[in-house]
Amino acid sequence: MRLSQMLFVTLRDDPADAEIPSHKLLLRAGYIRRIGSGIYAYLPLMWRVLQKVSQIVREEMNATGAQECLLPQLQPSELWKESGRWDTYTKAEGIMFSLIDRREQQLGLGPTHEEVITAIARDMIRSYRQLPLHLYQLQTKFRDEIRPRFGLMRGREFIMKDGYSFHVDEESLKKTYQDMYQAYSNMLRRAGLAFRPVEADSGAIGGSGSTEFMVLADAGEDEVLYTDDGKYAANVEKAVSLPADAEPSQFTTFAKRETPGTETIEKVTQFLNASPTQVVKNVLYQAVYDNGLTVLVLINIRGDQEVNDVKLQNELTKLAANYGAKTIISLTVPSAETQQTWTAKSLPLGYIAPDIADDYIAGNKQIHPKFVRFVDKTVVELKNFITGANEAGYHVVGANWGEQFTLPEIVVDVRKARPGDRALHDPTQILKSARGIEVGHIFQLGTKYSQALGATYTNEQGEEKPLVMGCYGVGVSRLAQSAVEQSYDKDGIIWPVAIAPYHAIVTIPNINDAQQVEIAQRLYTELNQAGVETLLDDRDERAGVKFKDADLIGIPYRIVTGRAISNGKVEVVERATRQSQEIPIDEVIITIKQWIKAATENKN
Ligand code: ATP
Ligand code: MG
Repeated sequence: MRLSQMLFVTLRDDPADAEIPSHKLLLRAGYIRRIGSGIYAYLPLMWRVLQKVSQIVREEMNATGAQECLLPQLQPSELWKESGRWDTYTKAEGIMFSLIDRREQQLGLGPTHEEVITAIARDMIRSYRQLPLHLYQLQTKFRDEIRPRFGLMRGREFIMKDGYSFHVDEESLKKTYQDMYQAYSNMLRRAGLAFRPVEADSGAIGGSGSTEFMVLADAGEDEVLYTDDGKYAANVEKAVSLPADAEPSQFTTFAKRETPGTETIEKVTQFLNASPTQVVKNVLYQAVYDNGLTVLVLINIRGDQEVNDVKLQNELTKLAANYGAKTIISLTVPSAETQQTWTAKSLPLGYIAPDIADDYIAGNKQIHPKFVRFVDKTVVELKNFITGANEAGYHVVGANWGEQFTLPEIVVDVRKARPGDRALHDPTQILKSARGIEVGHIFQLGTKYSQALGATYTNEQGEEKPLVMGCYGVGVSRLAQSAVEQSYDKDGIIWPVAIAPYHAIVTIPNINDAQQVEIAQRLYTELNQAGVETLLDDRDERAGVKFKDADLIGIPYRIVTGRAISNGKVEVVERATRQSQEIPIDEVIITIKQWIKAATENKN
């Protein structure tokens, strides 16, 4: 392609509305254009990158025996009502765009395709002989994200590869899951990304596991905890660890103490000259279930620890049926204002004890009259602890479970693992923290959707069984931008060779020099014929401008038909290293072909 014929517009300055480097660079280099909040046009250079990423994804998927298809983006609401997700997706989380057609039928724009694919499986899979089966697609997804941001990283319209597999049993599912683990690792390695597979939260479905593939970058929205021995890595939402040992309490007899102005753990431990590990902290949350019922939650956890909201939400989802509900639609620490909507009398905030009475709650149809009481593992073994006295300005010390307080029945792990904690698999290993961009997620679904939609098969014994399912997603457009986030310098993008829009760019420093033009055009034609995807910068611009643009758009190899042509040579510059060398004109093609091979092949 000739730059003189392209829609080639680069910006000198950083666009005001872009925060992270990759977003700025893709805008500046003319890869993407913002059309609306979370809505972007993929311009020709970007589209080539996306096609390359898609091709790698296809090759790795096809190699596992998965088959490509294309499912509808317009999805009838009935399907989502069958799975029970219509209300959560359109109202609660509100992530699904929905619309009403001319026949007054409700439809959603596909944010994901479990419902559609399960309906197909229900109709078309009859026998164990048809299993296992794995279908995937590459398609634009729609999600009305609460905070669309960072360009393609979190769009409202984005490209995803999503695949769904069907199995007779868990064992078969696990095999495909392992294949996907390998396929995803291959994709990311081939795309030239530094990544880490991490254990991920699988929500309340439980399931036997899910793995996220994180591209390591400071701008990542996710936090990963890992150990240096390479044996443990998990999303902080899911991570587990050993808390620090509790210090023995100096209070050996139970007493109520006046502790004025000590609403926080820090203040009370300072006042009593005690360690936060001796404190039972009582944290209040407010959960709203999908049937509209509000439930107040009290968690007893050690004073030096924090509650992990995702773990807590999973525990509360397990209890949903007790409240006649299916899922949770919100989980918050209630503000003083919201507390007023349900308190019968004012709470001794900062001084709450584990046994705070239920009559603080003014229960009604919308508000459950009793606290859900969870005790975190960190305080089960605690002796002679400090905790609130249910009276403003007072704490108790030297308290014990089974004496002054009854241990709540539901013991949970809702503690947030933190960097610096010891690892469970080896306490000499210390958890470290890194930021990651989630580019892929593989998930053992089990029978959640097949049961909801009645998708069954007949086994060898002639029994009807629900299909066992897995699902596997890659954010194709997010992955492409992540590559930039991992690879750029002050002058622009440095594409990994495997996904660069073009391999090479031939730059003519002076288009008024006939010899420069002639050699450049010949090289341009021959490189393309030889399979080296090449741009020709034949614009009527100063050489400096052309070099700057070439650096900005990040093409791996730049070939300059400058002064060296008088010696039968051209200057070739590698974008990543900036190494420049003069190469005889008739060796350019073979040399660049070798470089491309070397840069992509050890990654295959
Ligand atoms: P996130 O936690 O980042 O919102 P998710 O858990 O909602 O992601 P999935 O539903 O598992 O994501 O989707 C599969 C993949 O699609 C993700 O791993 C991610 O790479 C990509 N993806 C999800 N949401 C977006 C988005 N709004 N914009 C771009 N890519 C996305
Ligand atoms: Mg999401």
